Amino acid sequence: MLAKGMEIIERAVLRLEPRQGVRLINLSPSWAIKRMQRERFQRTLRLAAERSRFYREEFKRRNIDVASIGHPSQLGDFYTTGEDLRSHGPEAFLTGRPETAFETTGTTSPLPKRVFFSNRELEEMGRCSAVSLYRLGVRSEDRVISAFDSSFWVSPVVLKMAVQFLKCFHLEAGKIQPAEFYERARPYGPNVIFGEPSWLLRLSEIARKRGSWPMKFLFAGGENITEDAREYVEKVWEAPLYLSYGQTESFGTLGAECERKDGYHRNDLFFLFETPEVDVTGYGELVYTTLVRDVMPLIRYRSSDLTKIVDEPCPCGFFVGRLAKIRARCDEMIVCGMGNVGPWVFDEILRGINGSAPEWQVVVKHGEQRDLVELHLETDSHVGKGELERVVLRHLRERFPDFWKNYEMNLYDLHLTISPPGALRKGRKLRRVVDRREMVPFQGTGREVRAI
Ligand SMILES: [Zn+2]
Repeated sequence: MLAKGMEIIERAVLRLEPRQGVRLINLSPSWAIKRMQRERFQRTLRLAAERSRFYREEFKRRNIDVASIGHPSQLGDFYTTGEDLRSHGPEAFLTGRPETAFETTGTTSPLPKRVFFSNRELEEMGRCSAVSLYRLGVRSEDRVISAFDSSFWVSPVVLKMAVQFLKCFHLEAGKIQPAEFYERARPYGPNVIFGEPSWLLRLSEIARKRGSWPMKFLFAGGENITEDAREYVEKVWEAPLYLSYGQTESFGTLGAECERKDGYHRNDLFFLFETPEVDVTGYGELVYTTLVRDVMPLIRYRSSDLTKIVDEPCPCGFFVGRLAKIRARCDEMIVCGMGNVGPWVFDEILRGINGSAPEWQVVVKHGEQRDLVELHLETDSHVGKGELERVVLRHLRERFPDFWKNYEMNLYDLHLTISPPGALRKGRKLRRVVDRREMVPFQGTGREVRAI
C-alpha cells in the first residue's frame, strides 16, 4: 500500500508542471522509494520470465524461481550483457509490442546493439528529463539548440520530448560541423546548447576566436570529458557545462549532474543500480535493472562502465543518491607493465597540459623487452615534443608515484607522439585505451592468454 502511495506521488510528479514536480519529489522519503523499487522490480522480473524468450530460458536453465526474488542481487551470477543483446537479437528480449528503436554506437564491436521501446516509455523518459533540466534552471523563456547526432541515436528524441514539457523554444541542428553550427545557430540566440563533449569543445574553440554570446549553460552527453576541457568550455562561454550519463540500452539518462558537478544524480525511480564487485576504492562495474519498461526490460544489465555508488547526501539537497563520474569502460582497463591503467590515469597525467585538453589515445604494444605505452596526443600548441614529454613525465612522477616507480624500474617504455587537432577521432566515439599486444590461443582450454 505504501509503495502504491509512492507510485501515485511519482505519477503526479511526472504529470505536474516540472516546477511543482521538483518540489513534490524532494518530499519523498527514501524508504518509500525503496519499497516502490522493490515492487517494480518484481513486476519487471515476472514480465521478463513470462514473455521474453531469453529470460524465460535463462531462468529455467538456472532454476531461478522469480517469485522468490526480491532484489537483483539475489540472482547470483546472472547478468545480461551487451553480447547477449547482439548474439540473441533484441527479439529474444521483447515482452511487448515495440513502437520505436534506437541503436548503440560502441567502441568494442562494429555491430550495433538494437533496443526497442514504446511511445509511453519515451514520454515518461521525457518527463523525467524535464524534471532534471528544470532543476538545472531551464525555463519556458529559454532557447535550446541541440547538436546531438540524430542518426539512430536516442538522445535527441528524449531531449525533444523533455523540452516539450518545459515549453521552451527548441531546435535540432543535428551533428553538423561546429563552424557551420556556430554561424547558423547564432541568429536564434540559443542560451542552452546540447551536444557531445568533444563536439562542444570544438564549438568553444571557434567561439573563443569569433566571439561567444550569453549562455545559461551547456549540456553534454554521450561520452566523458576531462575537467580541463570542461574548464575551457566554461571559460569561453562564461557558463557552466553539465554532464549526463546514460546508454541507449537505458533509454538515455541514467543520471545527470546538478550544479555541484560532483557525480550524476541517479534516476532511482526508473532503475535499480548495483556495483556487485568493487575494488578497495569502492569502484566497480555498474549493473542496472530497468523498473518501468514493458517492451524490452533489462535485468541486471552490465553497463561496462566503471563507477562508484555514492549514497551520501549531495549539498544541493536533491533527494536521490549519485553515481561518481565514470572512470573508464571496463574493456578499457589494461594491466600492463605500467600497472592497472584506464583512461582516467591519462586524463590526470594530461591535466594542465596544452590548454583546451585535446584528444588523446593510448596504445599499449609489445616492445622489444617490455610493454610499450604509446601516448598519442593532439596538439595545436607551439610547445615542442621534447618539452611536452618532460611535462608528461613530471606529472607521472608527481601524480602516480606507483606508475613512476615501474617506469624507473624499466617495466615499460612510454613514448609520446603528437599530431594536429582532428587526427585521432574517426567515428563518433574514440576509444581511449587500446591494447594491441598480440593475443594467442592458450593450448588446451580454449581460453585466451597474452603472449609474453
Ligand atoms: Zn547534487
